[in-house]
Amino acid sequence: MSNLEESGIGQTMHDRLTLLYPICRSITGNGVRETLSHLQGLLPLQIHEVPSGTQVFDWVVPNEWNIRDAWIKNEDGVRVLDFKEHSLHVMSYSTPIHQTMPLEQLRKRITSLPDQPDVIPYKTSYYQEDWGFCMRHRDLEELEDGDYEVCIDSILEPGSLTYGEFYLPGQTADEILFSAHVCHPSLANDNLSGVVVSATLASVLAARPQLRYSYRFVFIPGTIGAITWLARNEERTPYIQHGLVLSGLGDAGSITYKQSRQGDAMIDRAVSHVLALSGEPFSIQRFSPYGYDERQYCSPGFNLPVGCFSRSPYGTYPEYHTSNDNPTFVRPESLAGSLETILGIVEVLEGDCIYLNTQPKCEPQLGRRGLYRGLGSTGETMAMLWVLNLADGKATLLEMAERASIPFAKLSGVAHTLESHGLLRKVT
Ligand code: ZN
Repeated sequence: MSNLEESGIGQTMHDRLTLLYPICRSITGNGVRETLSHLQGLLPLQIHEVPSGTQVFDWVVPNEWNIRDAWIKNEDGVRVLDFKEHSLHVMSYSTPIHQTMPLEQLRKRITSLPDQPDVIPYKTSYYQEDWGFCMRHRDLEELEDGDYEVCIDSILEPGSLTYGEFYLPGQTADEILFSAHVCHPSLANDNLSGVVVSATLASVLAARPQLRYSYRFVFIPGTIGAITWLARNEERTPYIQHGLVLSGLGDAGSITYKQSRQGDAMIDRAVSHVLALSGEPFSIQRFSPYGYDERQYCSPGFNLPVGCFSRSPYGTYPEYHTSNDNPTFVRPESLAGSLETILGIVEVLEGDCIYLNTQPKCEPQLGRRGLYRGLGSTGETMAMLWVLNLADGKATLLEMAERASIPFAKLSGVAHTLESHGLLRKVT
């Protein structure tokens, strides 16, 4: 069990996720505001409101959507579908409707999954005005012929798109970006897991006395939120040196990393290194122009070094985009393990530097300095020999760690020891 699991941080994140789960979020509206205002209890999150109609590159910020209630009543006035029972029951961005119609007509408006009859599917209609319901197939099959009164008490009108941002200044203006989407209604792994891990990571880093990089955490609606953020912050993007989209971090699957479009950016290498030496199974995928908001950060006009960090990839598990993606599907230990791995990646980015061996002609005598402990189980001496050999004033610590297949943290630790004995000098 890792330190973070022992500290109960996984359970704390899971509790937060469970609290946020019932809220009906969408790409705009009060659900996002409520979610972000909850996160303000953890972070001094700045909330931005961007008016509907704002041009953002080739897109336009849409009208704001809010919903109060929705239901389908049978002829006896009994609610056979109730939005208050589950936010997935209404297709997100449904326009308001209140009318009575026969079952045959209503069926065309209901989405269900015959292959998974006990789950409610998740459906949206963001950029085309429409309305609809989502239902368990088993419940749909039980509806009897007759007339049904349907009501969606929603509002779709000019308002704004809401996103949250937390900027944590470090020693340099160069930034590491973490991005999570906040637009999914009652879905837990996709992507409340990303929201709670990102917010917790931010609070952990904010408590550190000193950071080399500045950090930016954005909590945005998927696609349109990332596009809006990039359109409003184009001048900031050259500062983004590394970045991760965080998504799907709480299921039982192993970690999947999707590389940035660059493929060989330092973030790609840092993640590969940490995963390769984690002792856990993992998979690395090459960039493709689909998926989460890495699509926007890695569009050719930006081509930022931003990868996507998740566990089971989207769409590969049956719970994905259904009511079975609920808090019981998310495991506290998976959340903690994801956070811990991301912190390991941050350590690499924070600690990478270049050293020069001050005694490069033959090995320095480690024994005389009390540094030679034999090639025992800790591997410390071997790590020292690698660092001394590769510290030519050009190789970075990450390059040394890759070449030696020794965890970055271990090399970094021995490098500090060697530096304190005057055997290494930091170049940059
Ligand atoms: Zn999704």
